[in-house]
Amino acid sequence: MDNCVFCKIIDGSIPSKKVYEDDKMLAFYDIEPAAPVHVVMIPKAHIKSADELDEQSSLYVAHIFSKAGEIARSVGIKNGYRIVNNCGADGGQTVFHMHFHLLGGKTLGKMG
Ligand code: 5GP
Ligand code: ZN
Repeated sequence: MDNCVFCKIIDGSIPSKKVYEDDKMLAFYDIEPAAPVHVVMIPKAHIKSADELDEQSSLYVAHIFSKAGEIARSVGIKNGYRIVNNCGADGGQTVFHMHFHLLGGKTLGKMG
């Protein structure tokens, strides 16, 4: 989709440090890490946010979660991690291509 940063990362017109890719998803390091290890996992479909998911597009979410553990281990995360989805403006979402933050590399504090 035009003017979507994450679609541009998928098509390669914006460079990224990729950690995992297949036909349905891409994972890359966040440009502004919020934890020692911070990977962003995105579907290869322009779904605006988790709020617009339906039965069909939810399959992307299932796929991303099915790969998260493998991705975490591949970037050296050992003792657990946090997966975060910011949904909508009040949820803290700034890029409107649904994504999941994979955070780890230290003992994370309480959420909120
Ligand atoms: P949100 O705030 O929407 O949940 O998360 C968007 C995330 O995308 C932020 O953590 C931000 O640092 C990251 N981000 C935004 N633009 C880029 C970019 O061009 N490259 C990379 N690697 N990350 C980006
Ligand atoms: Zn997009």
